Amino acid sequence: MPPRDQLSAASPTDVVDATVLVLDAVRLAGARSRSEIAERTGLGRAVVAQRSGELAAVGLIVEGGTGPSTGGRPPRHLGFGAEAGYLLTADLGASSIDVALADLSGRIRAHRAEPSDIAAGPDIVLGRVEAMFAELTANEPPAAGGLWGVGLGVPGPVEFETGRPVAPPIMPGWDDYPIRERFETRLGAPVWVDNDVNVMAMGDWRAGVAQGHRNVVFVKIGTGIGAGLISDGQLHRGSQGSAGDVGHIQVVEDGVVCRCGNVGCLEALAGGHALARDAEMLAREGRSPVLARALAEGRSPTAQDVAAAAGRGDPASVELLQHSARYVGGMLATVVNLFNPSLIVIGGGVAGAGDLYLATIRQTVYRRSLPLATRRLQILPSSLGPLAGVIGAAAMVADELFSREQLAATLARHGASGAGARGRDRGMSLLAASAAATGQTRQQGSRRVHVEERS
Ligand SMILES: [Zn+2]
Repeated sequence: MPPRDQLSAASPTDVVDATVLVLDAVRLAGARSRSEIAERTGLGRAVVAQRSGELAAVGLIVEGGTGPSTGGRPPRHLGFGAEAGYLLTADLGASSIDVALADLSGRIRAHRAEPSDIAAGPDIVLGRVEAMFAELTANEPPAAGGLWGVGLGVPGPVEFETGRPVAPPIMPGWDDYPIRERFETRLGAPVWVDNDVNVMAMGDWRAGVAQGHRNVVFVKIGTGIGAGLISDGQLHRGSQGSAGDVGHIQVVEDGVVCRCGNVGCLEALAGGHALARDAEMLAREGRSPVLARALAEGRSPTAQDVAAAAGRGDPASVELLQHSARYVGGMLATVVNLFNPSLIVIGGGVAGAGDLYLATIRQTVYRRSLPLATRRLQILPSSLGPLAGVIGAAAMVADELFSREQLAATLARHGASGAGARGRDRGMSLLAASAAATGQTRQQGSRRVHVEERS
């Protein structure tokens, strides 16, 4: 086997793979010197020096001061160049928009939120997202390297390859809408779109309670119910992008019709929409004086009213929440037996109902799953609250930009600007050559070729 330092023998694919390894060692694994990178990646020192030099040329690796000497020459500290550019992300909910400006490490530098109705359709909702993005960049002086990528989470099934919603039950007018193309045209940066629960799962996995776990189920219990799966250290989207759509698992033979058109779905029995519907019935039938107050105020009780009333000890509301939690717990017991996660994260508005809700879910899961599957299983609330989506969308975009498939294109896009003069050194041209080579072999006919051509 030839030594890994023989660069002249390296194929373009090897060059890109080594660059991804070096960048990930600094970006995700916290390597702080060239020798640490070599240790973590198993690459030879000369390869590490060359790859990190190229990454430094576009600002993705920055050099700090020197570290303590262990006898020889003191090592130079390295860090990830999170400020080389910025990302814009949006988390669209059924009734809200959250947007954020993040650095390339996914750290949120500015955040805005406003109420919104997803059913108003893509032109109105995405128009607001664009206006909110513009406010963010106007108020927060963004990195000199400019916008590197955009990420969006939407509350429905998304075909990840095309970035288009597919028959989303609560998003009338959005079916097959070209969200990616719209933002790529208007913002001139690559765009990724995913289901909102997937991006929330990414958020808690990268920056919240799920850090360090390799098999995680993130369940969002909001107006609807969905799950995001981290499987063996990767977000599991399934073959079309619809993995984790647990809200439409049938949990009773007959009963209420779901918004998806089927009967007896989990979401139709236990989601926030279902809680509000049942709360209104209880209020009208005089079975909950606390919930009836909403009617007296001239409005229908909401899932939040149920949580507040349960907190004050209203027996009918406590019963409603427990009913919902038992259905969710029953679904999760099945998922646990199938998937064997080490952690279940519970997020979304209804999950914020409090300890009783979480306790009932835990009780049901532990009672109904196999002992081996629950021996080390933890069930915890999400630690990121309403920011989980925008944080996760930023992590998704960064992971895509710096992936084996995209890194060469990312560097080709940003090598000529920002770090300009330095980017034209020998290392950069080597990588650009490999970008062209892998671009032809790997990305022909792929979904992002047009972005590369434009830049
Ligand atoms: Zn359904």
